[in-house]
Amino acid sequence: MGERIDILGAGLSGLAAATILAQAGKEVHVHEIRKDSGSRFDGDFQGIENWTSNVDFFDEMREWGLNPDEFKSNGFDIIDLIHPDDVITNPKTIGDAFRVVERGTDEHCIDQGFKRMAIAAGANIHYEVKVDPKTCDIIAAGPKDSSAIAFGEIFHTDHANHVAFQLNDKLAPGAYSYLIIIDGIGLICTCLWRQQKKSGRYLNETIAWYDEHYELNRKPIKRVGGKGDFSLPKKYIHENKIYVGEAGGLQDFMWGFGMRYAITSGVLAAKSILDECDYEVEVRKKLVPLIKVSAINRFLMNRVGDRGFKMVARYWMRDQKKKGDGLRFMKWIYQPGIMRKALWPIVKKSMLRKKSLDDGRVVYRMPFRKPLKRDSWEPSQKAEQVGIQWKNVRKEGANLSFSASDAEN
Ligand SMILES: Cc1cc2nc3c(=O)[nH]c(=O)nc-3n(C[C@H](O)[C@H](O)[C@H](O)COP(=O)(O)OP(=O)(O)OC[C@H]3O[C@@H](n4cnc5c(N)ncnc54)[C@H](O)[C@@H]3O)c2cc1C
Repeated sequence: MGERIDILGAGLSGLAAATILAQAGKEVHVHEIRKDSGSRFDGDFQGIENWTSNVDFFDEMREWGLNPDEFKSNGFDIIDLIHPDDVITNPKTIGDAFRVVERGTDEHCIDQGFKRMAIAAGANIHYEVKVDPKTCDIIAAGPKDSSAIAFGEIFHTDHANHVAFQLNDKLAPGAYSYLIIIDGIGLICTCLWRQQKKSGRYLNETIAWYDEHYELNRKPIKRVGGKGDFSLPKKYIHENKIYVGEAGGLQDFMWGFGMRYAITSGVLAAKSILDECDYEVEVRKKLVPLIKVSAINRFLMNRVGDRGFKMVARYWMRDQKKKGDGLRFMKWIYQPGIMRKALWPIVKKSMLRKKSLDDGRVVYRMPFRKPLKRDSWEPSQKAEQVGIQWKNVRKEGANLSFSASDAEN
């Protein structure tokens, strides 16, 4: 590769790569189709996990030359774990189990922090441009297809900072819902790992649940969401182009915690261009084993409903009692043990579908699952009121930055 490096996409993976390359003196050009970094999101909170490695992710970032102080983050050592039968328990650890960051275009958002780092290092970012991917060295353009969607409401609240994680197959088919509150702003989100018509009703029902169980004094601001693309490509370098982040299918099949993979893969791509490592080898060593385990976990989760979710929640709490640390369970979940590894051929055959992409790559991707019979139910009165409240707020100009139909694109 020559001295000039072109990157498609100014999201987390693309900007991480741009920063490392520009710091090393390369001429870097990042081409972004949207107006700004973070425009794919609209102020939603996301968690950067600290359980797929024993190294704290912010320490790892600093070692790479990325500065986590460039954006706002709030670390959490405790969460509410909401079981499917509404029992609430508290997994906890010493230190940061994860950190909440905001995605979007405001100055304190992680996307803008990464943008500042890339510019300070000397990278050139070109916004609102459409370039031929064939002219780029690194493809960092995020998800293309939908394997799952997340749909949430952002609101004002006077509740203290808080995170709740709910396993509930009715409110979040096949997945989970969550509540995150940071400094007076809340987000209630439901994740759908099975495709549904009228997905708004899942969000309304989820919000109604949280309204009933927490004193939120919720005043809706906007609704947000997005899609996740889960796939395992045959190769991570194709026709001399390095695929990073979700463009390379580097996502967590189990829960969708893709940010750490995105940033790590961007850094590895840059190091590979700088001849410090071999991207294909490093990704297969560092990330693919975790992704495969997450796919096996997802396969198992797809087989259970609330009864299985309850078993997971119980096991988590028993494990915490035994080991004195709630994070140990999350770390164990991502360990490629012999039993789970043995399931891989079955998972690959029955959960993933071979697909040839337009750019010539062959991937094994997880299609959006079809709905189940139990996904059809009548909304509660409270959920209908939540829906009416949102309609009224929307009439007054509140923004809906994502709808289920976006997931088709
Ligand atoms: C609602 C939601 C909640 C999530 N929650 C979490 C969470 O809590 N924790 C977590 O770790 N992960 C979470 N994720 C996943 C996480 O957001 C992604 O895995 C991560 O952002 C992927 O980074 P990326 O660099 O691959 O893509 P992005 O950060 O999305 O960047 C891709 C960029 O490429 C641009 N682009 C797209 N097409 C083109 C093109 N043709 N030309 C030029 N530019 C293009 C896009 O506009 C975008 O700026 C969530 C995702 C969603 C949708």
